[in-house]
Amino acid sequence: MSSQNKGIGWFLSPNKEKLTVTYFQGLFEKARAKRQSYYDNELTTAFRLFNQDGDDFGGLTIDLYGDYALFSWYNAFVYSLKDVIVEAFQTVFPEVLGGYEKIRFKGLDFESDHLFGQEAADTFTILENGVSYEVFLNDGLMTGIFLDQHEVRDGLVNGLALGKSVLNMFSYTAAFSVAAAMGGAIETTSVDLAKRSRELSTAHFEANGFSMENHRLVVMDVFDYFKYAKKKGLSYDLIVIDPPSFARTKKRTFSVTKDYTQLLEELIQITAADGTLIVSSNAANYKEKNFKQDIAQAFKNSRCDYRIMETFHLPNDFAVPPGSKTSDYLKVFIIKKLAR
Ligand code: SAH
Repeated sequence: MSSQNKGIGWFLSPNKEKLTVTYFQGLFEKARAKRQSYYDNELTTAFRLFNQDGDDFGGLTIDLYGDYALFSWYNAFVYSLKDVIVEAFQTVFPEVLGGYEKIRFKGLDFESDHLFGQEAADTFTILENGVSYEVFLNDGLMTGIFLDQHEVRDGLVNGLALGKSVLNMFSYTAAFSVAAAMGGAIETTSVDLAKRSRELSTAHFEANGFSMENHRLVVMDVFDYFKYAKKKGLSYDLIVIDPPSFARTKKRTFSVTKDYTQLLEELIQITAADGTLIVSSNAANYKEKNFKQDIAQAFKNSRCDYRIMETFHLPNDFAVPPGSKTSDYLKVFIIKKLAR
């Protein structure tokens, strides 16, 4: 069995399966058929094609980025099958021009490489819900976008952000801000500590023809931004927060399981009276129940009422095995702050 991407072994089937090209072709055909609705959607060219045990084979994910596929190998055993897997993949997905790979286990001296077929440009544009994003497949483990959040970005494009001032905390490449801008946000502010986030975020905005006039990119620790915003009396109609599970900076360490309540209290202070918070965590060890308790505590401490309007989990392309809640690591709540 696998627990979030880090399996040591998998139960495949009651029969002894030979891990042949034919076997993987069968798995890929099934996976492809499950995702027909994504193929039918002309406004989306990037999504997950194969999600480990959710598609009946642990330790492997494959993402589509336009004409290219990105393979992630989560252990040495799956990696040892790579020739067979790639051969099967190419017969089932003949339109994919080339592949890249990410090594997500220890023991090799590289983490990213070209895998087969044509090479993609260093950066290129994919479409998601009609929004363009600038991605890169061979620069470290990241790609410029986290595909598992596409339903949340879709929500921002289709109503949540309309006419709003938006703050995006831990923004990375500002994908949520760009989706909000496409959805009619009047202004966005994106805060991330990483210097590189500025150029990557600008690339996403420019890919959609936005000038940066109403879109601020702030390279800063979010905890310093809270201080700044409070001092300046700033508040936002819509705040998106999607922190890493764990982060260490020079000043402090942050862990979602311990520190989310405090983070939310800070956020509530700079949310407009009838504002909305979109709070997210992808930490598998942070249970939905605990997350909800932390939300309740934060609002209580802030003497504020709230209502959870909507909850998102992993989208269908990130298939999880039936009944397996632990593989569904994503939890996103759309929360309305209510005046007392
Ligand atoms: N929300 C993003 C993904 C966030 S990834 C998206 O939708 O694409 C986590 C990000 O948090 C990284 O870019 C990292 O640089 C940033 N980060 C970590 N600690 C931080 C801190 N204390 N202040 C600001 N950004 C931080």
